[in-house]
Amino acid sequence: MKKVIIIGSGLGGLATALRLSNRGYDVKIIEKYSTPGGRLNTMEKEGFKFDLGPSFMSMSYEFDELFSDGGVKNPLLLKPLEPIYQVFFENRQEPYKIYKNLAELQKEFESVEPELMQKIQKYLGRAREFYNDTNDKVIKTNFNNKLEYLLKLTGVPFKHIPYLFKSMWKELDKNFQSDEVKIIFSLVAFFLGSTPFQTPSIYSILNYTELENDGYWAVEGGMYKITEEIVNILKSRNVEFVFDSEIVQLNYEGEDVTGAIDSRGNVHQADIFISNSDAASFRGKILGREKFSESRLDKLHWTLSPFTIYLGVKGKINNLIHHNYFLGSNFKEYADTIFTSSVSPQKPYYYVNMSSATDKTCAPEGCENLFILCPVPDLRYKTDWRDKDELAAQIINDLSSRIGVDLEANTLTKTVLTPIDWQQKFNLYKGSGLGLAHDLNQVGAFRPQNFDEKFKNLFYVGASTTPGTGLPMVVIGSKLVTERIENEFTRL
Ligand SMILES: Cc1cc2nc3c(=O)[nH]c(=O)nc-3n(C[C@H](O)[C@H](O)[C@H](O)COP(=O)(O)OP(=O)(O)OC[C@H]3O[C@@H](n4cnc5c(N)ncnc54)[C@H](O)[C@@H]3O)c2cc1C
Repeated sequence: MKKVIIIGSGLGGLATALRLSNRGYDVKIIEKYSTPGGRLNTMEKEGFKFDLGPSFMSMSYEFDELFSDGGVKNPLLLKPLEPIYQVFFENRQEPYKIYKNLAELQKEFESVEPELMQKIQKYLGRAREFYNDTNDKVIKTNFNNKLEYLLKLTGVPFKHIPYLFKSMWKELDKNFQSDEVKIIFSLVAFFLGSTPFQTPSIYSILNYTELENDGYWAVEGGMYKITEEIVNILKSRNVEFVFDSEIVQLNYEGEDVTGAIDSRGNVHQADIFISNSDAASFRGKILGREKFSESRLDKLHWTLSPFTIYLGVKGKINNLIHHNYFLGSNFKEYADTIFTSSVSPQKPYYYVNMSSATDKTCAPEGCENLFILCPVPDLRYKTDWRDKDELAAQIINDLSSRIGVDLEANTLTKTVLTPIDWQQKFNLYKGSGLGLAHDLNQVGAFRPQNFDEKFKNLFYVGASTTPGTGLPMVVIGSKLVTERIENEFTRL
């Protein structure tokens, strides 16, 4: 039985362990943090349960595929969200509710965007075609080198080429007339670590996945259920977990890694090693590769950092739903400066998740759990977070006035995490929340690969390797690395 060590228990590590353990591999997971899940983690305080990071469950069919390939029935209980989210603009009391049902959606925007249904069907139709033409061919495929990748791209119908060289904003501008609609549908660009003014229009496939393909779901018991369920299955298969243990060095002989050394000096031996630590910074920090040195990594495009607030609040809040965005009135200017500013945003844009709206187990009776996420510059640009309490107070006051609830007076528990906390907890490079961004020169064979350049038994899985970041992509990444290990490594 081949022995595998997985460095890190993020979703990428856990999902790979699920697939490999079902194929008879003997898996051990070594994790720096005290609990499994990486960013897909949890925090419990004073009877409130918070998901630490991810709150959006989309492309749920990828989880069906994962559990099925892992040899079990999908244990997650999902409830579809409708409306899928709502967006508050600064100068408008009522939020816009975003429905999957396009007739409802059209009604919501009838005062600003006539004939929305027709326009959105055309817009989504184009994104659907791109998704169908690239999903299996490009996203769900392993590439051994850039040439192979580029040749594969030539198989994508020619009509999609302009889609690559036009910004997402331009595509939205072509299809819709109101700023409200354009801004709302461009918010997904920030998920990829860019702005709609820079990101190519191909990423309107995210609008397709949210509005037509699968929507958003609430996971019963919270997002951390995903981690818990996978860990339970792995434990039942005798997968070994070692927590509070950071891998700081690898031993090797020739082209083989022979052991992973943890911070206490223990050497963990195996036939195969998989790093779920950031695929770019691991190569620099642990393997000392010049191509991934700090100065080279700093030149890459990283996604924004999270500034997160977890509030347990007394009283019910009726005007918040599961997913809520709060925007200001200077979208373009905000988008242009947010990535590289060295100071906290003056008038922050933020997202609020209230999972107690759909799941009563997340908060004590008569209370709500609020998770507030404000994207901020990473630690290359803003290193000093001593102003964290001021920024948190500013966001909480703004939210209070926009929903008409005195949150400060009703707060039962409050925790604030800055990019420094996120970096320290999970080794996120410079606190970047989603890892490497998805510019065209940072995807496919141009992204750090899921196999090592030098060691033939070292592989990578997770947000900064292929195909990319976000829970469904990381699940697909676990499939790709498993295929690589099965097809290529085991043949060597
Ligand atoms: C605030 C926030 C909100 C998000 N929201 C969403 C969302 O709503 N929907 C969505 O799809 N995605 C979301 N994401 C992105 C999503 O969380 C990530 O893409 C995904 O969880 C990454 O999983 P991973 O396996 O790559 O890595 P991680 O979750 O980072 O796991 C890597 C693990 O490796 C461990 N590790 C690192 N180095 C070492 C080492 N040397 N030795 C031992 N262990 C090590 C870390 O401690 C960590 O546990 C969000 C991210 C953040 C930060």
